Amino acid sequence: MSSEAPLVARAISANDPLPHVKNVILVMSGKGGVGKSTVATNLTMALSRLGFRAGLLDADIYGPSIPTMFGVGGRPVSMDGKTIEPLERFGIKLMSIGFLLEDPKQAVIWRGPMLHGALQQFLGDVNWGPLDFLVLDLPPGTGDVTLTLSQKMAITGAVVVTTPQAVATDDVFKSVSMAEKVSIPILGIVENMSYFIDPAGIRHELFGKGGGQAVADFAKAPLLATLPIDPSVREWGDKGTPVTKAAPEGAVAASFVALAEALLKVVGAKAEAMAASDGDDFQIDRSGGPGGKKRLPVAK
Ligand code: ADP
Repeated sequence: MSSEAPLVARAISANDPLPHVKNVILVMSGKGGVGKSTVATNLTMALSRLGFRAGLLDADIYGPSIPTMFGVGGRPVSMDGKTIEPLERFGIKLMSIGFLLEDPKQAVIWRGPMLHGALQQFLGDVNWGPLDFLVLDLPPGTGDVTLTLSQKMAITGAVVVTTPQAVATDDVFKSVSMAEKVSIPILGIVENMSYFIDPAGIRHELFGKGGGQAVADFAKAPLLATLPIDPSVREWGDKGTPVTKAAPEGAVAASFVALAEALLKVVGAKAEAMAASDGDDFQIDRSGGPGGKKRLPVAK
């Protein structure tokens, strides 16, 4: 697979806020702390390493982690007074509410309309340029951010992150059904923190097993990857260089690249299916409903 592949697996309409972005991938989870931002970060890095033009939008407005994970904290600038330039690190275009806060320790207390306004700006007013993939790190939970996004544009699909244990999967099931309700396809599941290999080479399933497969069965989507717990993931994340960049030849980086390759297969199949269909059999209404009344997008 190379960046030459004609990989467009979403319908880009005339009023799409991201007309030059071929694919929009949501990374979501029903639960915080399962490694959603880590997966979003390293998946984006892996896509870039495979030759694709990639960007990462930190849509986790209340708990932005991307500035820390990429070690960037500058202020985005505007060249023309209209559009905002994304920051760039390791070849990835980045935008996060964290870049706009005076004090990163400051809590963000926003009501829904402000949140949606910020999201709208991050989509429509950021000069993302042409991208093969824009990955969105969503806030945890079933949230209305997903609903807002689904109404603004066609989404290639979502990658759902879970950990193996039931306490995590219970919440992740909810985010799967939320995505289904707003007609966002689930591209696949990632089970993070699946196992730990100790220094003697023995494998330990610290959080049990089977959660990722259970979510995959529920979502009728493939289990794209089972990722190890590895202290280097956290250490490099805290130091501001994603592990896929810091230790590119290591086993952890390899598992993120394998995740990106598995995702590319799913996206490629979806792009082919879209090209083969006439596009008339499936439509999503993003108008918000007659008379401006809010309602869920309806697939016909
Ligand atoms: P979320 O976005 O779901 O809240 P994060 O990606 O911020 O979760 O991860 C939570 C913490 O766990 C971070 O400190 C991160 O470095 C660490 N972490 C995530 N995945 C792994 C992993 N596979 N191995 C070791 N540490 C991990």
